[in-house]
Amino acid sequence: MELMDAYGSPLYVYSRTDIENNWREFDQAFGAHPHLVCYAVKANSNIAVLNVLAKLGSGFDIVSIGELERVLKAGGEASKCVFSGVAKTVIEIERALEVGVRCFNVESESELDRINTVAKSIGKKAPISIRVNPNVDAKTHPYISTGLKENKFGVDIGEAIDLYKKANNADYLEVQGLDCHIGSQITDVSPFLDALDKVLALVWQLNDEGISIHHLDLGGGVGIDYDGEQTINIKAYIDAIINKVGQTEIILEPGRAIVGNAGIFVTKVEFLKQNSEHSFAIVDGAMNDLLRPSFYNAYHQVLPVNENATGTKAQWDLVGPICETGDFLAKNRDLSLSEGDYLALMSAGAYGFSMSSNYNSRPRVAEVMVSGENHQLVRKRESVQDLFAKERLYEG
Ligand SMILES: *Cc1c(COP(=O)(O)O)cnc(C)c1O
Repeated sequence: MELMDAYGSPLYVYSRTDIENNWREFDQAFGAHPHLVCYAVKANSNIAVLNVLAKLGSGFDIVSIGELERVLKAGGEASKCVFSGVAKTVIEIERALEVGVRCFNVESESELDRINTVAKSIGKKAPISIRVNPNVDAKTHPYISTGLKENKFGVDIGEAIDLYKKANNADYLEVQGLDCHIGSQITDVSPFLDALDKVLALVWQLNDEGISIHHLDLGGGVGIDYDGEQTINIKAYIDAIINKVGQTEIILEPGRAIVGNAGIFVTKVEFLKQNSEHSFAIVDGAMNDLLRPSFYNAYHQVLPVNENATGTKAQWDLVGPICETGDFLAKNRDLSLSEGDYLALMSAGAYGFSMSSNYNSRPRVAEVMVSGENHQLVRKRESVQDLFAKERLYEG
């Protein structure tokens, strides 16, 4: 309540301690095994979040020049950044080479050629991995499954060997590693281990060709508990990896697992509206602020901020003010609600603010970080003027 009074509604709130603990859980599970935990910036790219992780020594998985600049601004090291993404532009490649990223995760032959050309033009060798598509079913939502043949990501694992040969012969490329990322919100280790087995088979093949792989990047995708679901034991997952890979360095790219459960989205009940069929709680937060429910039909637990709230008991649908039927945050929740109540949507730290937009000309909400008893604004709420500050009238 104190936070709502100080910063207004709606609001994202992140716990610094939870972010730190989540990252350390990955890092410490590796023990002495060579590794780098590269936080996937797209999950939550606020520079305060990145700075907390940079201070722990985190690496970063980036997918654009914007993310690269955020990491640098937040005190992260370029030499710990892996650059993923299906269509890196010339400008992005130049900048990444200039600052010295750890590795490019290459997703196609054309991209490989482009990186070689750009590297040549600035006279600096580009460290690369090829992202292979191991064709395993991550058994997750189709929009966040990336490891099947039908996806746009990576190169077919069967075709990777030729691409590696090409990379190995290119003057301005340096083969460093092998990369895969099979999807997101994966709650069982078996697809990860299946993918690893396929990747390792390729590593042996490459070895036979005289191409050595110095690190394996196994991507992100570790799921979190949104609704009491059983999820992955990180220590057991990492132990299983270590058991299979000998002394090869491992890179992981967790995003959701670092920040998902470290953040909540708080929204205020504006109006209650009941008809014979439905009970709607119209809240001040909407799909532009937290897209996951509309986009993936994702579930976020809803808790009252004031636990002693007394109100109308019903099965409420939480809907936003946007002119779309798809604008909902939660459906059929047993809650006692009054107008003016604050509600917390739990586990909203990942793919929450970072997927937000200005749809319906709604200024994006504020973000706050808490650490023990302290709290600070880490992104100011946008103003209405901000919405059109970059727009111009057509003159004449
Ligand atoms: C999205 C993404 C990640 C992070 O996925 P999470 O499910 O948030 O862990 C890591 N690597 C790549 C290449 C990605 O596209």
